Amino acid sequence: MSITLEHIDKSFGAFQALHGIDLDIPDGELIGLLGPSGSGKTTLLRIIAGLESADGGRILFHGEDVTRRHVRERRVGFVFQHYALFRHMTVAQNIAFGLDVLPRKQRPSAAEIRKRVGNLLEMVQLSHLADRFPAQLSGGQKQRIALARALAMQPQVLLLDEPFGALDARVRKDLRRWLRSLHDELNFTSVFVTHDQEEALELSDRVVVMSAGRIEQVDTPEALYAKPGSRFVFDFLGHVNVLHGELAGDRLASGDAWVRLPEAATASGEAQLYLRPHEVRLQLSAVDHAQLPLQVEAINLIGAEVRLELRPCGWQCDTLWEIGITHAEYHSWQPRRGDRCFAVPDVGHLFIAD
Ligand code: ATP
Repeated sequence: MSITLEHIDKSFGAFQALHGIDLDIPDGELIGLLGPSGSGKTTLLRIIAGLESADGGRILFHGEDVTRRHVRERRVGFVFQHYALFRHMTVAQNIAFGLDVLPRKQRPSAAEIRKRVGNLLEMVQLSHLADRFPAQLSGGQKQRIALARALAMQPQVLLLDEPFGALDARVRKDLRRWLRSLHDELNFTSVFVTHDQEEALELSDRVVVMSAGRIEQVDTPEALYAKPGSRFVFDFLGHVNVLHGELAGDRLASGDAWVRLPEAATASGEAQLYLRPHEVRLQLSAVDHAQLPLQVEAINLIGAEVRLELRPCGWQCDTLWEIGITHAEYHSWQPRRGDRCFAVPDVGHLFIAD
């Protein structure tokens, strides 16, 4: 089921939460809405569901205008951050709940409901828990049951609002992988909300980056990471090392620092260089394509790598630089706070914005 949003506006009193959102979601896509708190992700999801009405614009499902259609008539399944399972019902009863309350004409027979619940329990790999109550399940299990319940209605569209937000990092990772494979197997259209960039990049076919009620960029995770369209997107997808400088010929320079550009810039004037932590190495002397002197401010051991925080020496930058080194490099160099070094950017990855 494809979803088309045409110029969706939404205000709460005097506050405009969504500004003219246009978005095309093709059939079978798993798309992530990513943005900081308050950017309008949940509001947009609720409008797609029919739980909230838009002030302006249209929503089309498979080309058909559903803007005025009630949530019940949209055939959408939901999963929320807090599982919202019924405490007094068993797992199997929870999954069957949506079917049991359908109007008589649409309600499957009791035998059909039993069969469907059995299949769903198998799909979420929890058949052995059919008779347990929610209080006897782990967070990850509860969320899989919530998903099974959403799928029981055989929705054409699955909407997930921070589905793994309440779970610990490891369970989140497993469930993400599991949701991705389930989505690929069943091939429905899914829209999920997250403020976690790693989750959005790992799970989505495309990511919609939102900010202050507007779409900043829609792209595949690879394209977003490699070619962010704005500083906001660049920042939001992870730490970014920035050099504010002046373009002159083949160089971008600021104070004591400069970088030679892969191609001579045709423009001149102010520009910014953006680099991800993994796109820069460190060494004790400058190289012939860059001079970026830095001073070690902090040393953080993060799992497989050592992440250094570095203060630019004699050049303009609004935040500290972060650069990862391997444990082997760390042991041979043994950096200390206050040590001087030079950043060596990977020239192929220079991203310059004017
Ligand atoms: P979060 O990640 O914190 O859930 P979000 O991106 O999902 O944020 P929304 O919940 O969509 O953001 O909210 C967008 C803006 O609209 C916020 O400023 C919020 O305070 C406001 N808002 C949302 N719902 C209502 C409401 N029912 N009444 C008034 N304001 C609302």
